[in-house]
Parts: sequence; C-alpha cells; structure tokens
Amino acid sequence: MAQSLRIGIVGAGPAGLTLARVLQERGIRASVFEAELSTSHRTQGGSLDMHAESGQRALQIAGLYGAFGDIARYEDQGSRVYDRSGALLFDEQEDGDRPEVDRGILRDLLLASLAPDTVQWGMRVSSVQCVDDGFELTFVEGQTARFDVVVGTDGAWSRTRAQLSPILPFYTGVLFVELGIDDVDRQHPDIANLVGRGKIFALGDEKGLIAQRNANGHVRVYAALKVPEDWGRESQSAADESKSLRDQLLAEFESWDASLLSLIGPAATHLAFRPLWSLPPGHRWPHQKGITVIGDAAHLMTPFGGEGANLAMLDAAELGLALASGDDWPRAVEQFEETMWTRAEGAARGALEGLNEAMSIDGRERVLAHMHSHEA
Ligand SMILES: Cc1cc2nc3c(=O)[nH]c(=O)nc-3n(C[C@H](O)[C@H](O)[C@H](O)COP(=O)(O)OP(=O)(O)OC[C@H]3O[C@@H](n4cnc5c(N)ncnc54)[C@H](O)[C@@H]3O)c2cc1C
Repeated sequence: MAQSLRIGIVGAGPAGLTLARVLQERGIRASVFEAELSTSHRTQGGSLDMHAESGQRALQIAGLYGAFGDIARYEDQGSRVYDRSGALLFDEQEDGDRPEVDRGILRDLLLASLAPDTVQWGMRVSSVQCVDDGFELTFVEGQTARFDVVVGTDGAWSRTRAQLSPILPFYTGVLFVELGIDDVDRQHPDIANLVGRGKIFALGDEKGLIAQRNANGHVRVYAALKVPEDWGRESQSAADESKSLRDQLLAEFESWDASLLSLIGPAATHLAFRPLWSLPPGHRWPHQKGITVIGDAAHLMTPFGGEGANLAMLDAAELGLALASGDDWPRAVEQFEETMWTRAEGAARGALEGLNEAMSIDGRERVLAHMHSHEA
C-alpha cells in the first residue's frame, strides 16, 4: 500500500515542500531533510510569478490554492523595457494570470501546511546508496536513514542525482549580482517610479539591469554580466565590501543613464552572487525503481522564462499523485518521469535561448520583440 511507503525527500525548496504536502494530503507521511539550519538561515531570493498551468496547478493539487490567493500579488505583473539611456521602450502595467509571490512567503505557506517535524533542518545529505530494502541516506554528521523511495529535490548540485546520472551543470557564462533596495515607495520614489508595478529589463552591450518589485516595497535587482563565474569575489576581502563591489558594478555600466545606475547605487545592498548554471536541455537517465530527482536537480535551467520554480512545483505535485496512486506506483512514477523530461526539455531550451538573446549585442530589440509578441 502506498500509505505504508517510507519516503525520504532531500531538500526543502519549492519542489520538496510541495511534494511533502501533496503526499500528506493523500495520507502519506514523508520526511524532508534540509541542509539549511532553519527557515531563516538565508535570504530566499526574489519574487516568483506563478504560472496558471504549472505553479498554480501544483498549488491546487496541494490544496493550497485558496491560501495562495491571500499572498499572491496580482497587482505586480507589469513589464517594462528601457534602453541604457533610460528611455522607456515598452510599458505594460496590466493584471494578468501570473501573480507574483515572494519566494520566502511561498515557502512559509508550504511549511505551515505540513505536520510538525516533517522537515528536519540542518540535515545535509552527503550520499545516497542503494541497499537491500531500498535506499540509504548518509548525512554529513554521520547519521543514516533508510527509505523505500528517495526523491532528490536538492537543487542544482543534487547529491541524489549522482545515483542516477553522471551529468553536472555547466556555467552559462552569465553572472547575476543580486541586490536589494528596501522601502522604495517612501524612501526612494524615483526607483519606485522606474520599476513600476512589476519587472523591468534594461539591456544593452551584452549586459543587463533587471529589477522586480517584491512585497512590502522591496525591489530586487539583478545586474547581469558576461563574466567569469567568480567575478566580484575579491570585493569580499575589501575593507568596505559594498563600496568595492558597487565601484566594480558602476565601472561595468559606466555609460548608462543615472536613473538606471540608481539600481546599483548606495541604496542597494548586495545580497548574493548568482552564477547561472544549467543542465543540458534534454537531461534524462535510465529509470530506477525507488529513486528519482525533480525540479532543479533534474532540469536546472536559466531564469529566462521564469519556469524553474513553476516546473519544480508541478513535478512535485504530479510525482506525489503517482506515488499515491496505489500498488502500481513504480509504473506511475516511470510514466511521470517521461512526462517531466519532455516538458522540461522544451522549457530548458527556451530558457537558454532567452538568456543568449537577452545578453546579445541586440538583446534589447530581441526582448522587445518577445514582449510585443505576447501583447499580440
Ligand atoms: C536569479 C534567479 C531568478 C529566478 N527567478 C525565477 C522565477 O521568476 N520563476 C521561476 O519559476 N523560477 C525562477 N528561478 C528558478 C528557481 O529558483 C528554481 O527553479 C527553484 O528554486 C527550484 O526549486 P527546487 O525545489 O527544485 O530547488 P531549490 O530551490 O534549489 O531547493 C533545493 C533545496 O535543497 C537543499 N539542499 C541542497 N543540497 C542538499 C543536501 N545535500 N542535503 C539536504 N538539502 C539540500 C537546499 O538548501 C534547498 O533548500 C530563478 C532562479 C534564479 C537563480
């Protein structure tokens, strides 16, 4: 019986938490092991737009669509494109069917929906082994735990994936330097006006400044550069780290308009370096009963397309249904993997193309054409 399956989930990101919730809703208790020490261990990153056919569908299957309505920001779905002189080339500020939600707020919703102790924090998996009666997880502190089914939702550098596939992510050549600006509506009205109610893209010279409105007047900024993966790290040893990094960024965007440079100016706090890695589109592996990976662990892709978290959650919801489907769950999981691979291949190809187009010499024109095609 599916209800008696021992299921171990590695990683408490959008995929792992959605899977645990879908299983719980169907009477199956799973254990989630998360490397981070607690919910507040690190900043969770920016806002996600939840697509109707994937992220929102997953929330419906998880029985959380109503609760999502309370935290979704339908009013923040605008898009703007600027050129590097600060001229506004495209502006759409209408509500659509892809509401935004801050990643941390979504994580809190999923966590609150789970039975206490479902997630075990500070449990970093170092390896996954096949044993007689299933799979054994070994943690960095030396503990072990055995399960009938192990699901790797442990992201880009998944330890679980190593049991299934030798393939590792490759660096796309583009680094996002992530910055945050608080309380823009009251303290930085010019930045609030620049960003509007949604996302902006300022592209040119194979570079980009991308900014998005988050909840509570926060703006998240990504300075996109074609540089080596470790660019900017030397600033971390400077006496004034923020100033050193800011100076490097300002030098990269030297001839750009002051209105755009305000996004990387003194109001902005550096939050993270995010080199964009990708698994090869079409990544798949020979099916193995009792172990699989989903989300970024299976099909890490660039954020151009905004599909990663959406697909991770849809994978989780569909895998949860397959595991809960009864005695023939191994066959259902095999069919699920085929569906996931096909779906992810197209999205990953699109995300790589999107990155290459946006970061090309005529990136602005290509992104504009893309925006207008969605308008038509
Ligand atoms: C800059 C940027 C912007 C993005 N914007 C969007 C967007 O707008 N829309 C969208 O849909 N997607 C977006 N994405 C993609 C999205 O972030 C990912 O696709 C999504 O987070 C994948 O979810 P996941 O649960 O598979 O993996 P993750 O979110 O990576 O979660 C993995 C979890 O596993 C844990 N873990 C890792 N290793 C171990 C281990 N060994 N043992 C235990 N735990 C472990 C990690 O700590 C983490 O909590 C963006 C990505 C980036 C980089």
